[in-house]
Amino acid sequence: MDSDDSDTPRQWALRISRRPQRPTIDRLSQRIQHMEQRAGEAVLSLRGPVFGVDLGPALLGVVGVRAATLTRDDKVRVAGPDVLVEQACMARIAQAAASDEDAGLDAALYVLHELAHLPQGIGDYAVVQRLRAIDEGLVLDMDLAADHFAALVVAQIGWTELARLKDRQGRGLCNYPVGPDHAPAARLRKARRVVSLRADCLLRQRGLLASGAGYVSAAFGSERGLAVVEMGRGVSTLLACAELSPRAQAVLLGAADRAADVRAATARLDAVLYRLLPQLRRAA
Ligand SMILES: [Zn+2]
Repeated sequence: MDSDDSDTPRQWALRISRRPQRPTIDRLSQRIQHMEQRAGEAVLSLRGPVFGVDLGPALLGVVGVRAATLTRDDKVRVAGPDVLVEQACMARIAQAAASDEDAGLDAALYVLHELAHLPQGIGDYAVVQRLRAIDEGLVLDMDLAADHFAALVVAQIGWTELARLKDRQGRGLCNYPVGPDHAPAARLRKARRVVSLRADCLLRQRGLLASGAGYVSAAFGSERGLAVVEMGRGVSTLLACAELSPRAQAVLLGAADRAADVRAATARLDAVLYRLLPQLRRAA
């Protein structure tokens, strides 16, 4: 559910064709090999439950991660000694990353996120589709928890700090922007996920979330308000509750929309979060 699945092949082809400096086929396959290796190291680093997620039984006998063509809209599947990852998803991640190192991090985060969905009970894409029809917010909650699990695992290996991983997760979603085919509820779910990861990243970068903290979930929608909550560590805790100006509301609602300049769009989002989160305002 990470990389949202909702692009049609034509949209995907268009998006890829617009991207400058595509790696050559040789570079792409080399990069994907590197991604398989990094994702494999991350998966094999698991020695027990992390953030309450125990993948031990699902990964019994697994020795590595391999890109493959999967059926039934599967993104990741455990098959004997391999964790198989949909080839098209790996290619998207490889194309979007600026370096092999970033692509390796993104692949590890992606595979771990998708694996977390197995014990969450939403490994089957048809189940996800049904859940979305019932409550997009529930799917968002499960995605943010899977994101946090994935970031924690990679941080524990020591490749990089949690704030940078949340940053990568947020940027990764910008590669799958909201398009005309998305229903308003799906657009809101995707926007809330981007804003949640961005707020989490900014708070961590400034030392405002302790290392043992949970993760950030940002709520907003048709009402002119923003609530930011820390979840995943016992009872949820309100971090901020603010009124939104029409402009700030538009920035939040559009956080996952296609942006001509992703860097400028991120700066606009950061400015809104700095204004609305008192912790960030004080730290600025
Ligand atoms: Zn997901």
